[in-house]
Amino acid sequence: MNRFDIVIVGGGIAGASLGAELAARASVLILEKEAAAGYHATGRSVAFWEETYGGPQVQPLTTASGPMLLSPDPDFSGRSFLSPRRTLHVGRAQDAAARGRLLTDYAGKVVLEPVDPRTVVPGLRPDWTLGVLEPAVKDIDVGSLHQAWLRRFRRRGGEMRLSTALRSARPQGDGWRLETSGGPIDCGVIANAAGAWADDVARACGVAPLGIAPLRRTVLQLRVPALPSADLPLVMDMGGRFYFKPEGEGRVWLTPHDEAPSPPCDAAPDEMAVAQAIMRFQEAVDWPVEAVERKWAGLRSFAPDRAPVYGFDPVMPGFFWFAGQGGFGIQTSPAAALLARALLMGEAMPQAIASLDPAAYCPSRFR
Ligand SMILES: Cc1cc2nc3c(=O)[nH]c(=O)nc-3n(C[C@H](O)[C@H](O)[C@H](O)COP(=O)(O)OP(=O)(O)OC[C@H]3O[C@@H](n4cnc5c(N)ncnc54)[C@H](O)[C@@H]3O)c2cc1C
Repeated sequence: MNRFDIVIVGGGIAGASLGAELAARASVLILEKEAAAGYHATGRSVAFWEETYGGPQVQPLTTASGPMLLSPDPDFSGRSFLSPRRTLHVGRAQDAAARGRLLTDYAGKVVLEPVDPRTVVPGLRPDWTLGVLEPAVKDIDVGSLHQAWLRRFRRRGGEMRLSTALRSARPQGDGWRLETSGGPIDCGVIANAAGAWADDVARACGVAPLGIAPLRRTVLQLRVPALPSADLPLVMDMGGRFYFKPEGEGRVWLTPHDEAPSPPCDAAPDEMAVAQAIMRFQEAVDWPVEAVERKWAGLRSFAPDRAPVYGFDPVMPGFFWFAGQGGFGIQTSPAAALLARALLMGEAMPQAIASLDPAAYCPSRFR
């Protein structure tokens, strides 16, 4: 079949979750240009769910997604995608204002407990005197979540074509004619879930871009035999210069929180960012680094106001944006996909996301 109600461009967590939500209501095709879905941002995440991550506009999406990610899932052998982690936000004297913002921005929304950080993370250097514990933070099993979305999508009748790139599209009748690397396809609606390529996909469809900017983030896996326990919390600098989390015994994942502008591409780690990460890690804890075992990078894509973009383009009919998921696309995926389904199908907002304000994420805020 080469005619679908909806074609979703991109098979990462965004396209997979949206596809799973839509496939029972419409005929849906996911186009993915790579041989494996999840090759780009989705496969490169640090895999945590943290309500204060991404800022106050993102928090309602993350909070609403929590119960859906936590409940036992039939597409994951009846298990939950989340497991306990906690975050310790740490700061030095100069971070007092950032600590104040953290506590006021999320007051009454997220449980945050001021603590002496050195009682939570042994080995923290003495100048790290400020601490705020966020106990609800969890690790996410990203690979299993992505696969569960794709399984649900297929079970509900969705079709996915790998190694098939959208090249261009033009309006035709009350829908679209797409030109792809696998030949022409007709559809009613194009949903743009192309991550770092979201603006490129818009241009290819004759739609004005929104200014969605890919920013590179570098991650290192370090061997640190002195790590006191694999159950330590994720440690996040209030000043935004690094975070790290244990990854099994004697290992941590570390990032210098870099945000280098990049064209959409197969991102590679930056050596300067690697060196910066190790320096910042050693400024924070006294655990010797034995080796850099792995390093990788991925692109986090942000709209100009850093909130995600969900909704129909206000100028081009039949073009739906599901982009700008920044550094929070995994942890927000259940709520975001439900919201997008309601907007795309013209349905009432489901109960699980009744607290969300769709206007905060609509593309017309940029037009
Ligand atoms: C280092 C790092 C750490 C992160 N940590 C976390 C975290 O802990 N928690 C969290 O929630 N989020 C995290 N994120 C963010 C999260 O990974 C992203 O928000 C999310 O993966 C974005 O999903 P996506 O589907 O939009 O993008 P992608 O996974 O990049 O998928 C987009 C897909 O579109 C395809 N595509 C593009 N153009 C075309 C075309 N023309 N035709 C067909 N296919 C096309 C691409 O090949 C790609 O597979 C992190 C990101 C990075 C880089």
